[in-house]
Amino acid sequence: MNDKKIIIAIDGHSSTGKSTVAKQLAKALHYIYVDTGAMYRAVTLYAMRKGLISPDHFAEDALEDVLAEINIRFEVNPETGVAEVLLNGENVENEIRTLAVSRQVSKIAAVSEVRRKLVEQQQQMGVEKGIVMDGRDIGTVVFPNAELKLFMTATAKDRAERRFLELKVNDESITYEDVLKNVVNRDHIDSTRKDSPLRQAEDAIKIDNSNLTLQEQFEQILKLAETTIATA
Ligand code: C5P
Repeated sequence: MNDKKIIIAIDGHSSTGKSTVAKQLAKALHYIYVDTGAMYRAVTLYAMRKGLISPDHFAEDALEDVLAEINIRFEVNPETGVAEVLLNGENVENEIRTLAVSRQVSKIAAVSEVRRKLVEQQQQMGVEKGIVMDGRDIGTVVFPNAELKLFMTATAKDRAERRFLELKVNDESITYEDVLKNVVNRDHIDSTRKDSPLRQAEDAIKIDNSNLTLQEQFEQILKLAETTIATA
């Protein structure tokens, strides 16, 4: 394998396991991993704490006014070796994963001013390549020239089942129906928004992992990455 570094863009529907495979891949290749969903989730948490968004209200203009106050960065957790997200210096890695944040995040992510701020930061992180980034618009907007683009999908039922099992560990009141509704709703908002809608880039490779184990999926994707790096 040559030592040329590439950019790997992983997009796809909600809860398709993008971050799991992105983390595995970054570790195997000694690349940086960036979870862009965590950035949109952190902005959402900020807006929720400030009372700017709730299920029946969204003060979009007020959010745009305070965007400059929001600082988002990642810090590697020395115990796990995985980067965790900091919102104005506070580690919010766990809080951003709740269903309450998931219910609001797609409305926040549809705001162009929010996207502009986060996309600029994401592009900076990839200047030196050697990066695996996952999200919804990485192959289409953030890095349209990424050497390897993957688009992950699976049936809504499979995705909701997996996410339900994860969320149930911390909150026993969550139902499968709640999670399914959230997954379907986010996909709808993400795919129909005006700015940077979720779609498969023309040159992305589609991976439907409904019937793949994590190990099979990882091996398939690692092979694609190694082939791409060898010919880069
Ligand atoms: O990846 P994750 O499910 O954590 O993303 C949460 C939400 O953030 C998505 O449903 C989407 O609304 C938004 N998002 C986005 N663009 C990205 C990453 C995430 O719009 N690049």
